[in-house]
Amino acid sequence: MLVALDANGDRIYASAEIDYKECYCNACGERVKHKNKGKIVRPYFSHLQNTCPYGDNKEYNHEWHIRMEELFPKEAREVRFVDDQTKEVHIADVYDKETNTVIEFQHSRIDEAEFIKRTNFHLENGRRIVWIFDERTQSNNNYERLTKRYRKLPNTLEAIKNGPYLERSFIWKRNPRRMLEQSNTGLYTKTYSVCVVTDDEGVIAHRIVKQEDGFHIVYFSLHEIQMRKGLDIEEFFQFESYWKSQEPWKSEFEQRNIEYERKKKEIDRLEKERKEYQADIDRKVDELKKMLAKRNIKPWF
Ligand SMILES: [Zn+2]
Repeated sequence: MLVALDANGDRIYASAEIDYKECYCNACGERVKHKNKGKIVRPYFSHLQNTCPYGDNKEYNHEWHIRMEELFPKEAREVRFVDDQTKEVHIADVYDKETNTVIEFQHSRIDEAEFIKRTNFHLENGRRIVWIFDERTQSNNNYERLTKRYRKLPNTLEAIKNGPYLERSFIWKRNPRRMLEQSNTGLYTKTYSVCVVTDDEGVIAHRIVKQEDGFHIVYFSLHEIQMRKGLDIEEFFQFESYWKSQEPWKSEFEQRNIEYERKKKEIDRLEKERKEYQADIDRKVDELKKMLAKRNIKPWF
């Protein structure tokens, strides 16, 4: 955690030059320790006991999580929200006041119930929410494992059946995709953005398109979002149809469509050829059977 509270309940920041002695968790109010000494590159606050959902687990003090939060102004990091009715407390990793948007970063696997709860919590309180999942190959260099998570469509034919995205047609299999498919989660008709970061260098997040097929199949967007300081949060909520109408994505999309049509024609032609060939074989087999029958020879095939 990058934010804690001092004895007066004011926000204090782990990155500050001060060595905080008395600090408290922004979520549960328990005492936390300011870790800013020795080998620690990115200072953070740590619980003395691991009883808090926003505590010492690997997620909140993971290097990637901290780095992503640091792309945003410190006032926007780890903002506390309390539900008026249920008194439920949630800490948004980032809250951009201006656009009324919560951004959640997720490196480790998240429980489905937790994903639904947090998403609905913000949506029902009138805020927008963006989820950004860490899917860099560096964190999972086992290719087999990676392909199990995102099933890259196995061949052109399959990709063509699924639309003109070709090489970027991935189907996202990792949780919480399963909830995206279900209508009983209460999320089915709501607009929120789900992204994955696949690149460590430029830190690229792909927005997953939801409106193409409802939530049944989610594809990466043609458009990529560069995670950087001062990014335009509205980009997360632009529908794919918008990007397809903008240069350079417009021409890229058109090019892909041309390629898609070309490959489709080629497949149709090959399929026609295959059918003709099969018909020819069937005809020849028939002729052979008739000839054999005339000579009272039983076919051996
Ligand atoms: Zn806590």
